[in-house]
Amino acid sequence: MLFKNLADTFDRIEAEPSRLAMTAILSEFFKTVGTDEISDVVFLTQGKLRPDFYPQVLGMSDKLIIKAISATAGIPESKVTDIVIEEGDPGTAAEKLIKNKKQMTLFSDPLTLERVVKGLVNIENSEGRDSQDKKTKLLSNLLHDSEPVEARYLCRIVTGKMRVGAGAMTILDALADAFAEKEDRPDIERAYNVTCDLGRVAHTIAEGGMEAVRAIHVSVGSPLKVMLAERLRSIPDTVEKLDGKCAMEYKYDGIRIQAHITKDSVKLYSRRLEDLTSNFPDIAESLRIHCRAEDAIVEGEAVAVDTETGNMLPFQEVTHRRKKHGMDDAVKDYPVHMFLFDLLYVNGKDMTSEPYLSRRSAIENNFEISENILMTTMRIVSSPEEGQQFFDEALAAKCEGIMAKSVAEDSVYRAGARGFLWIKYKKDYHQALVDTFDLAVVGAFYGMGRRAGKYGALLMAAYDEDEGVFGTVCKLGTGFDDEFLDKLPEMLEPYRSERIPSLINAKMIPDVWFEPYVILEVTGAEISISPIHTASMGHIKEGAGLGIRFPRFTGRVRDDKDATECTTYSEITQIYLLQEENPDGT
Ligand code: ATP
Repeated sequence: MLFKNLADTFDRIEAEPSRLAMTAILSEFFKTVGTDEISDVVFLTQGKLRPDFYPQVLGMSDKLIIKAISATAGIPESKVTDIVIEEGDPGTAAEKLIKNKKQMTLFSDPLTLERVVKGLVNIENSEGRDSQDKKTKLLSNLLHDSEPVEARYLCRIVTGKMRVGAGAMTILDALADAFAEKEDRPDIERAYNVTCDLGRVAHTIAEGGMEAVRAIHVSVGSPLKVMLAERLRSIPDTVEKLDGKCAMEYKYDGIRIQAHITKDSVKLYSRRLEDLTSNFPDIAESLRIHCRAEDAIVEGEAVAVDTETGNMLPFQEVTHRRKKHGMDDAVKDYPVHMFLFDLLYVNGKDMTSEPYLSRRSAIENNFEISENILMTTMRIVSSPEEGQQFFDEALAAKCEGIMAKSVAEDSVYRAGARGFLWIKYKKDYHQALVDTFDLAVVGAFYGMGRRAGKYGALLMAAYDEDEGVFGTVCKLGTGFDDEFLDKLPEMLEPYRSERIPSLINAKMIPDVWFEPYVILEVTGAEISISPIHTASMGHIKEGAGLGIRFPRFTGRVRDDKDATECTTYSEITQIYLLQEENPDGT
């Protein structure tokens, strides 16, 4: 297949604001792609070469792109830099300059998809002292034979800024449209949620249809999207919702880890699918030793502990383990315990369709409790009073609350879903607003006075899980300390965008836009109907969104969460409704 076909499709999608229209274009295109190329097509549509759980290391800097464009178009780097600044995007700059160049060049070899993928893999694999030069040459080699539109997307892919606006949900819709029936969509999404591998799902459906998709199961080495909890405003409501009887576990305040274990290797993934094995080598080794099964996938929370007293320490302590360097010291200085709470696979068996109590006893049967590998504290609770008692004990043990879990036969592990099979209740719920929000930074406003020269406030957004876009919900200017304000520009710079990113839906216009990536935890006084914010637009009142009043940063950066895992429109609406039911927050 020619890469031009794919680049033209990207161009058409990018011009389309409607997700439905994007889906239709993609679906038509998928039907024309051979089964051996569809996974590459799907990955490149997301600006990637591989599934979500592989680190994306293409990320070339603008400086290298400028060099490559300069070498290809025969224009001095300073001139290319000016055009990149003018266009606000190396991709469109490359497109413009290659267009001029093309008019003068006679010979070039059309780019095939295969050649592009090989070239990108070579760029990714260039290592060593002259790796920057190698990358530049490899890119320039591809640009030499590019049509202008191909150059635009090549440059965007290598900088990690694809921006065509087709997220995973749109791609799944398009796959369903192209190769299955509407009612098959949930099964296709399930296959994605248990593999986190869009390419594999695409290849399977194109080659083997829905029967093959339904046969996709959990496997060691492919992380699953995690199951999430709903929230309710009281312990009695929680017990009632779970039919008067449930399992309650302590809710530990640490880092969620999904461990994939075989006899000779253990890999630990964060909920954002980052490989955390080197951050928790002690936990990995202990899991390997204490797992009695041939293979298993187990989930738990890693919490920092004071080894002298055995007390659990606040969340900030375990974050010392998320460093990239100096891990040996961090392992010594910040000991952690892993509290196991779920088992998704064991001895070749997919456990996700088993009920909660069977999964729990399977953990006990397959893991030996050790010094640093423990079970979460759990009790079966049959009344609100017993629930309250357990909650008080959880707080006394320095946990942030409880997780109530359904003990019904249908209490399966629903990968990637937030539902009422699990309900969380935290100590800060007695405040007016139920729970904190995890919001994506999508814009910044320059500061004034003491904050002059820095960002003074941020534009924060929630996620629209139906449309795959982000809508604004507040302007956040409090809760920052000086150190954080100093760090902010550097933290946000990689995601800076010269124009409003295609996934953002906003009426409030900040000084600087960002692709949604950095997630901050925020509290607020209440949620109100807002004429200016776009989150939950039309859910409560036609033409109006919902906004958080008096938002405050809690100090916690949720770097364990993916942007699509931030607070959703339906959660914001649900919290608004809970608050309206009981305006005093009592
Ligand atoms: P929060 O910010 O409250 O942790 P979240 O959006 O990260 O919420 P939720 O599904 O709402 O995720 O809450 C569940 C989280 O609580 C899990 O992701 C996990 O990290 C943590 N956790 C701590 N203890 C438990 C437990 N016993 N069972 C399940 N999850 C637990």
